[in-house]
Amino acid sequence: MSKNQSAPNTKTARVPLIAGNWKMNLDHLQAIALVQKLAWSLKDVRHDFGAVEVAVFAPFTDLRSVQTLLAADKLSIRLGAQDVSPHESGAYTGDVAAQFLRKLDVNYVIVGHSERRHGHGESSETVAAKAKAVATHEMVPLICVGETAEDLAEHGAAAVALEQLEASLHLVPQGAEVVLAYEPVWAIGSGEAATTEQAEQVCAALRTRLSELRGEAEAARTRILYGGSVTSQNVAAFLRQPNIDGALVGGASLDSQEFSRIAQFKKHVTGA
Ligand code: PEP
Repeated sequence: MSKNQSAPNTKTARVPLIAGNWKMNLDHLQAIALVQKLAWSLKDVRHDFGAVEVAVFAPFTDLRSVQTLLAADKLSIRLGAQDVSPHESGAYTGDVAAQFLRKLDVNYVIVGHSERRHGHGESSETVAAKAKAVATHEMVPLICVGETAEDLAEHGAAAVALEQLEASLHLVPQGAEVVLAYEPVWAIGSGEAATTEQAEQVCAALRTRLSELRGEAEAARTRILYGGSVTSQNVAAFLRQPNIDGALVGGASLDSQEFSRIAQFKKHVTGA
C-alpha cells in the first residue's frame, strides 16, 4: 500500500472500547464502590458488553480488590493497569512485573501515557519494552501517543503521534493485539478536547502507518481510541468518525454515572 492510501475502513468489525483511566485516584475501598455503582448503572440500561467494551484502569493497589469484585459478581467490566515494568522480575524496587498483573486477571495495560512520557521522562524505547512485556504475558498494551501544544504549532497534529507509534510498537510481536490511543497532551485534563476533524485525521494517519508497519489486516482490526477531555456531551461525535473506535477517559471516568453515559454513546450516535 502506498503512503497516500488509507487502510480500508472496517469499523463495524471493531468492538468499541470505552476505557476509564482513574490515574492516581481512589483507594481500594473507593474503587470497589465506584465499580459497584458503575455496574448497577450499566445494568439499569441493559448495557451490551459485546457491543461496547468497558474497562477501568485502576491504581496497582486497587487491582486485587477490583478483580475479586468482578469475579464474584460475574461482571463483564474489563480490568486494566496504568503502567508496568519492562523487566521480567528481579532487583527493580517499586516496579510491578507484567506477569504479576496477568495473575490478577488484568486484560489491558496502558503504556506511554503522556503523564509518564513527560512526568517520568519515559522514552518511546522504554514504552516499546513495556508494550512487549505486556504482550508477552498475554495482555493487551494500550499504547498512548500524542503531541504537546508546542509540537502541534511546530509540526502539525500527526507527526509526533506517528513517530511515537513506530518507536513504541517495534518490540511487540507481529500479530499481537494492541490498542492505540491518540491523546493530544494539551487536551488531557484541560477541558479542551481536540476537534473531531483533528482526532479523525490523526487516527486515520495512525491506521495508515500501522498498515505500512504491520499489514492491512492488522491495521483494519486494531482499535484506535481518542483521549483528551472526553465527556458524555462530546463522545458521540468522536465515535462517529470512521477511524475512532473508542475513548480513553480520565477525569470523567471517576463519576460512575457520567462514565456510564459515555459508555452508552451509541444512543447519542444513532439517536436511539
Ligand atoms: C487521560 O488521562 O488519559 C485523559 C484523557 O484524561 P482526561 O479525560 O481527564 O482529559
